[in-house]
Amino acid sequence: MATDQQALRVAVIGGGPGGYPAAFAAARGGHQVTLIDENPALGGVCLRCGCIPSKTLLHAADIMAAAEGAKQFGIEFGEPRISVDGLLGWKDKVIDRMSGGIAMLARQQKVNVVCGRARFDGPGRLAVEGPDSQLVEFDRAVIATGSSPLQLPMFPDDPRVLDSTSALDISGPPKNLLVVGGGYIGLELGSVYAALGTSVSVVEMTAGLLPGADRDLVRPLQRRLKDEFENIWLRTRVERAGAFPGGIRCEFRGEDADVAPAWFDQVLVAVGRKPNSADLGLDSVDVSTDERGFVRVDGQQRTSNASIFAVGDVVGGSMLAHKATAEARVAIEAMNGEPAQFDHVAIPAVVFTDPEIAWCGLTETQARAEGREIRIVRFPWAALGRATAMGRNEGMSKLIIDPVDERVLGAGVVGVGAGELIAAQVIAMEMGAVASEVAHAIHPHPTTSESVMEAAEIFYGASPHYLGRVAK
Ligand code: FAD
Repeated sequence: MATDQQALRVAVIGGGPGGYPAAFAAARGGHQVTLIDENPALGGVCLRCGCIPSKTLLHAADIMAAAEGAKQFGIEFGEPRISVDGLLGWKDKVIDRMSGGIAMLARQQKVNVVCGRARFDGPGRLAVEGPDSQLVEFDRAVIATGSSPLQLPMFPDDPRVLDSTSALDISGPPKNLLVVGGGYIGLELGSVYAALGTSVSVVEMTAGLLPGADRDLVRPLQRRLKDEFENIWLRTRVERAGAFPGGIRCEFRGEDADVAPAWFDQVLVAVGRKPNSADLGLDSVDVSTDERGFVRVDGQQRTSNASIFAVGDVVGGSMLAHKATAEARVAIEAMNGEPAQFDHVAIPAVVFTDPEIAWCGLTETQARAEGREIRIVRFPWAALGRATAMGRNEGMSKLIIDPVDERVLGAGVVGVGAGELIAAQVIAMEMGAVASEVAHAIHPHPTTSESVMEAAEIFYGASPHYLGRVAK
């Protein structure tokens, strides 16, 4: 906090990866902070029913896939014996441990945690209803209420129709599952169910899985999922669905060819998320939203009410935990009168499937849509020692480069551990790296990270392991 600034009463609504970092940063700045969440376990969707539980289950799926993959080099483990209770118990332990850690940090930083549902009740006031019902008065507030799964009207209200939250509490894997939506949440959770022995079908309205991601990154994943999933229906939508004692009956309409009606034990609807902005009393404090309900903010996360900030999923953009946390930092710096701006050039996105897909900065898809002049270099993992040693050559790393100043504008990776690799590209891009800097930085051998260095080398002719070409 600037020395000439007074300690403020700061109220943060929502204890997710947007809310709790905002509360902690405000407390460290010397403010008197109240963090309100209707759920007694801090951590938000990300920790309770998003990032962490899904990755805990995916880790189990990865282990099984690695064991299966070891057959190609002469090691057989036999059929896995899976205790779903054991797996869910582990998931819950992970959540409890991390949520307890956040609560401890709150205590250590003297953040007052209040459990209940908050609603603005006129300027400077929040009415909280729940276990800790009370009126919270504030000088500044941060809205970090996150988002909820979108429902589809044609699906009946039936416990066999799951959303991303209920899908994590696998009550004995079903024989078959329809995943509606080929985005990252549907594919990640579908992969978990497939690993547990469920026959998974995916139906996606658009022409490809993971709409928005570059097609060359998606292709290796789609090839592998074709083996793991029973069906991948693209350009197809569910027209009608009905709940019957024998299952959920779905009728489809496809643009290319109609898919026959089919029965499913369970259906997971994963078609997107909507902001939690309704019923927050935003009108009473003059905070405006857009037509889809996302809270409007400026580059400092300030809403239409100068004393109220908003961060995370509730403001839209990339609905990802790390974006929420970065916005929280900006909001609190701005609250403290510092010249903060959310001006990141590279927000990473990771799809934690097998293989993983990760990208940051400008995508090829975006560049084409904008008619932007770019150069693309790709390094196939078929030429990569580490990937060959792992028997996982399907990966590929690519860089998108400005042809004039040679700046790295974007990066994408598909392959085992792609999510870990992308962080180096984020740093490079935030530091304004040019391709020669990536090419000349010594990367450790043998690692998959070399693929990015070698992609950059291709920009200047060829890399030691792949001649390649510079594509426009
Ligand atoms: P949230 O985490 O949604 O937290 C909002 C909190 O506000 C909640 O705890 C809620 O209880 C509380 N709240 C809401 N309204 C009120 C109110 N009126 N009063 C009091 N409390 C209220 N992102 C990634 O970056 N990586 C991933 O791997 C990833 N995986 C995901 C997997 C799944 C299955 C899902 C569903 C999401 C995943 N996400 C992932 C997205 C990530 O979870 C969100 O982007 C992130 O949680 C957003 O953080 P937030 O702080 O904005 O909101």
